[in-house]
Amino acid sequence: MDYDTYGSNAVELAIDLANAGDVDAAWVPAFLDAHDDWFTDGTVLELTDEEAAQVAEIAALVRAVAFASSEPEVRDRLNDLLALATPRPYATDHDGELHLHYARPDAGVLEQLITTVAMGLSQVVVQHGWQRLGVCSAEGCGHVFVDTSRNASRRYCSNTCASRSTVAAYRARQRV
Ligand SMILES: [Zn+2]
Ligand SMILES: [Zn+2]
Repeated sequence: MDYDTYGSNAVELAIDLANAGDVDAAWVPAFLDAHDDWFTDGTVLELTDEEAAQVAEIAALVRAVAFASSEPEVRDRLNDLLALATPRPYATDHDGELHLHYARPDAGVLEQLITTVAMGLSQVVVQHGWQRLGVCSAEGCGHVFVDTSRNASRRYCSNTCASRSTVAAYRARQRV
């Protein structure tokens, strides 16, 4: 999906984080390894148990934003997340294209993660509307996504969930 038109591709990290795992933080080290491109070169990815638990809390806060069902609710939940961020933006062309990073380059991995996720998510909501954050309608999925469709009508996190649900609806009709 093309997040570039959405002002900040940092929202991609927020969505990945929200979908990565639950309150038990066992998934956190693997998540950071898989997303190490997002952190400044040389950032130490190892976390204490306490820090890993904080990452799981951030994931829950991002999910809470996506699950909110009104603008005031989204605003309040975004502010909970932003309160944990330590923004110090700077321009960089480390990947060949000039863009903004939100956290100072020498921040620890936790500070970079929280700040990038909070700022990326906020940018999308503020610029494109809170309805752009969705929760997958497929039974048993619950993944969150950013809706980049023209009329904000997306219901599923992926094509897999969309076709799975179409098949399920078809079977349900056959049964009656
Ligand atoms: Zn970058
Ligand atoms: Zn889904």
